Amino acid sequence: MYHRIAVRPKGTTVPAHYVSPGLLRRQLHALVRLGYEAVSLGQMHAGLRGEARLPRRPIVLTFDDGYENYATRAAPLIEDRGWAGTVFVVAGLAGKTNDWDNRQGDVVEPLMGFETLRDLAKRGHEIGSHTFSHVRLGHVPIEVAEVEVVRAKEALEAGIGQRVPYFCYPYGDHNSEVRRLVREAGHEGATTVRRGKNRPETDPFQWNRINVRRNTRASVLVWKLLLRRDPSPR
Ligand SMILES: [Zn+2]
Repeated sequence: MYHRIAVRPKGTTVPAHYVSPGLLRRQLHALVRLGYEAVSLGQMHAGLRGEARLPRRPIVLTFDDGYENYATRAAPLIEDRGWAGTVFVVAGLAGKTNDWDNRQGDVVEPLMGFETLRDLAKRGHEIGSHTFSHVRLGHVPIEVAEVEVVRAKEALEAGIGQRVPYFCYPYGDHNSEVRRLVREAGHEGATTVRRGKNRPETDPFQWNRINVRRNTRASVLVWKLLLRRDPSPR
């Protein structure tokens, strides 16, 4: 799980969310050397269900929020490896800025518009939903949560002209009711911020991820992937 691919600017309230392009390049290089191959969530899901063969070491590169720096900095590095990434877009803010963080005093970061998203999708990148306006789904009235989830899927599908089967809970905030409405809106899976790997028995609406931060050196990422054990199931 990545957020922003850029050198950390002064004044940001979320410094850990910045991974520099140089660090991303070193991380991708380390993944290649270890035999990892990036796949989409769709491919991962098919593989977990036994409907498709996965590479020996599959990995899904996910990027939350749909920052413009995904298109300008991350995508070229990922494509250099012959891979594609997965971006979770805040549908109602496409082409605008990160107002959910900006309202809390963070720097302004531009978000990709639909033209850029369509272009990425054409190049094989996977576009997922991250709600309409980046709300905490478990902390708003359930009717509001439903509108956020349904409206985002409709807007994204209309905007990019493709199905959007996968979802990402902002802040990793979800509960059984939220998971139910994400499923009933027509999604097939959703990612959380819980640390770990995904296995056939993992609930597809509670997929785990591994957080990559500003100080996650390539060697630390490798350690997180290969050596560290998953937390015991709750
Ligand atoms: Zn987010």
